[in-house]
Amino acid sequence: MLKVKANKKLVQQHIQSITGQNVILKDLHNIVSHLRPGHRNNFEELLAEMKKSAGATVDAFTDSDDTLQAISFQTEEMRNTFSAYPELLLIDATYKLNDLRMPLYVLMNVDGNGESEVIALWLVATEDRMTISMLVNKFKERNPDWKDITVIMADKDMVKRDVLTEKMPGADIQICLFHVMRSLRREVSTDKLGISAGERDMSLEFLTKIAHACSEEEYQAFYDEFTNSVPRCVIEYFQKNWHAIRQQWVEGLKNEKASFLNNTNNRLESTNQKIKQVVTRYSGVTVFFQELMLCIHSLKNERDHRAAYVTTKDTIDRHPRSNAEIEYKELLTPYAFKFVEKQLEYSATTTVLRTVDDRSAIIRSKSLGDIVVSVDSCRCSFSTSMLLPCRHVFAVRRHFNKTVYDEALCAKRWTLAYFKTRQRVYIDYSPESAAPDIDDSVTLHIQPSEPQEKVILSEQQKYRKAYHLLVKIGQVISGQE
Ligand SMILES: [Zn+2]
Repeated sequence: MLKVKANKKLVQQHIQSITGQNVILKDLHNIVSHLRPGHRNNFEELLAEMKKSAGATVDAFTDSDDTLQAISFQTEEMRNTFSAYPELLLIDATYKLNDLRMPLYVLMNVDGNGESEVIALWLVATEDRMTISMLVNKFKERNPDWKDITVIMADKDMVKRDVLTEKMPGADIQICLFHVMRSLRREVSTDKLGISAGERDMSLEFLTKIAHACSEEEYQAFYDEFTNSVPRCVIEYFQKNWHAIRQQWVEGLKNEKASFLNNTNNRLESTNQKIKQVVTRYSGVTVFFQELMLCIHSLKNERDHRAAYVTTKDTIDRHPRSNAEIEYKELLTPYAFKFVEKQLEYSATTTVLRTVDDRSAIIRSKSLGDIVVSVDSCRCSFSTSMLLPCRHVFAVRRHFNKTVYDEALCAKRWTLAYFKTRQRVYIDYSPESAAPDIDDSVTLHIQPSEPQEKVILSEQQKYRKAYHLLVKIGQVISGQE
């Protein structure tokens, strides 16, 4: 009886198209039980598995026909990790991992020791504008620090990527080199463009050069060479897909905000590869999720191990250090210090041309020409993307007889003190001692039906439509079950 009541309530909610209802797993059985009995994809089981993680929030999204559109998953630890280091958000979609062919979106950030962390998972059945919008909205609601995201790195192939910029207007969207090269290798192929292997290799060689261009002039020069050398279809593909958005992906043209240089490429690539290695292809969705979580745990353990070493002092330095070096070394995480150490070294050969006022001077920079640099800021790419002091600032400080060391020049995110308050190995947190998590609810969001953009079904959508994984809620109480 109770069960029926609960479902009646759900149906009522459904009719009213109210979004964001909490349902308990017991009731979900009725909604998400599979159409094909005995099929390995049991969503009730999956959602129950997801709820096992401490403080997990699980949001399931359905359309007005009760077809599952997406599931978003975040543990408490993931939310905390994001909140500690929200400036850079990496989003990577991986396809063909599970039996349902639901793409997995892995959301990551980069911590104070330069490690990337998984901060949310989205299983996306329908990659349309409305579903991605709902996922982003829910992410914002559950993670108030989204306002501090300055750069989003997303795959160019990510469907409805523009939703990200619409929903997070303060953030710049960029495509990291790893994704650029992956897309190019996929699209500029003998099969897709009908070119010879030689033409493909030559085209990719040009495109690699273009992706690494360090200025607009260099880009134009490579681009001219490229258009004079490769087959027409490659040029057309490039002009249609890449030319106009070059500020998002050409290394030297990206808006230089807190993107933390290119170091994100390798991280994304390695996480992506590890997931693919660990997860059994086309496994049932629960097994898939268990394997995925194991993989995330093992990556996390490796990072925690490295994080624990952050404070172990290596007492032997290869060369005598200056006072400034010693002070920066004590202030920063080893990862951040490595960058500052290099900048200090370069600053010895950086020339100040002339004084502008009592706190700024003209500096000659290789890539930017003559620039005005003050004792506490510079617009070079190192400074703007790393939020750390550059060789130019150091040179200007010496010019004005100011101390080379100044804590205020370094973003808080790179300091050891901040790291120790936010990295989990330093936080006295034992899940066992915490109050038992009795919340077994999954939040179900039903999209209000509204005229949809005309959609051509993707392979995945067709596949899934055939399964129609969520039974109509109405059928549950109308006695058809
Ligand atoms: Zn600089």
